[in-house]
Amino acid sequence: MKKHNFYAGPSILSEFTKEETAKAIMDFAGTGLSVMEVSHRSKEFQAVLDEAVELVKELLEVPEGYEVLFLQGGASMQFCMVPYNLLNKKAAYLNTGVWAKKAIKEAKFFGEVVEVASSADANFNYIPKNYEIPADVDFFHYTSNNTIFGTEITEDPQVNVPLVADMSSDIFSRPIDVSKYDLIYAGAQKNLAPAGVALVIVKKEALGKVSREIPTMLNFQTHIDGGSMFNTPPCIAIYAALQTLKWYKQCGGIAAMQKSNIEKAKLLYDELDRNALFKAVVPNPADRSVMNICFVMSEGNENLQDEFLAFTGTKGIVGIKGHRSVGGFRASTYNALPKESVQVLVDAMKEFESKH
Ligand SMILES: *Cc1c(COP(=O)(O)O)cnc(C)c1O
Repeated sequence: MKKHNFYAGPSILSEFTKEETAKAIMDFAGTGLSVMEVSHRSKEFQAVLDEAVELVKELLEVPEGYEVLFLQGGASMQFCMVPYNLLNKKAAYLNTGVWAKKAIKEAKFFGEVVEVASSADANFNYIPKNYEIPADVDFFHYTSNNTIFGTEITEDPQVNVPLVADMSSDIFSRPIDVSKYDLIYAGAQKNLAPAGVALVIVKKEALGKVSREIPTMLNFQTHIDGGSMFNTPPCIAIYAALQTLKWYKQCGGIAAMQKSNIEKAKLLYDELDRNALFKAVVPNPADRSVMNICFVMSEGNENLQDEFLAFTGTKGIVGIKGHRSVGGFRASTYNALPKESVQVLVDAMKEFESKH
């Protein structure tokens, strides 16, 4: 049976990414060797890394003065590296959920952290608005898409301090204005590649301003100087990332991704708003994530939750069990998920409705 992969991360990759990576695992760039067994300093692998960096710049229209890095340690390592490299005295963070809280926890090792606003009072089911960012902070950090709670900030915030974003689960889902940011980071395993690599886009000017000493591997400058090859990089993850980037370009770029993502999300949210058995977790349509769509059984129908999960399994639907901190269901509709898969889920919801 065809599977419809709604996992939140690691998550669906394009067929192109999987096929091309599978080929390179057997024979990489005509070397007769696997991409797993070739020196990262070979000219063939250097070409992969260079092309991946170029495509990130092209697809996201990265301006001059920025570096694109592929680093290990995932987004979680960036929770630490970002304040290590950028926080002198004080930083402002927006608390929109689990990942934001983890970022805040690490920043506190390096200085004062001002939590400018939080949506904890409603289990993070909305995006706080109208908060003030102190003018004297080193940077303002926010999580653009809250993978677990299904909220998203889809406009680049307009702020008067340096801006930093964790875009792990919505990078490449819509065009962004990189020039507004000092630093953007994203774990790869949602919209780019298998786990094992994080993408960092950093403004060169933003670095070198903290007074502390930074251990070599945690210093962004090390990786800029080393061209993301200070030490052995995760070659397969980077190879797969390149294939995904090529696929984005073939599909018409990031604006095309956005169009398809909005269509997919609308299809599912419309059904959630129509079907009396279900309820979207995020009430305000403006705050609803285009990437992670959280929903529960409506009031009085909670007892049907396990039955619906089992029912979707018979349709080939995989990975929609909600995160334990929200419960219910979460359908992750990342770039590589075809609209057809969302339609299968919507049809299953309609069929389930007619049975009850
Ligand atoms: C998945 C995720 C992370 C954690 O990524 P790791 O690569 O596992 O460290 C951080 N932030 C957001 C928004 C995420 O979705």
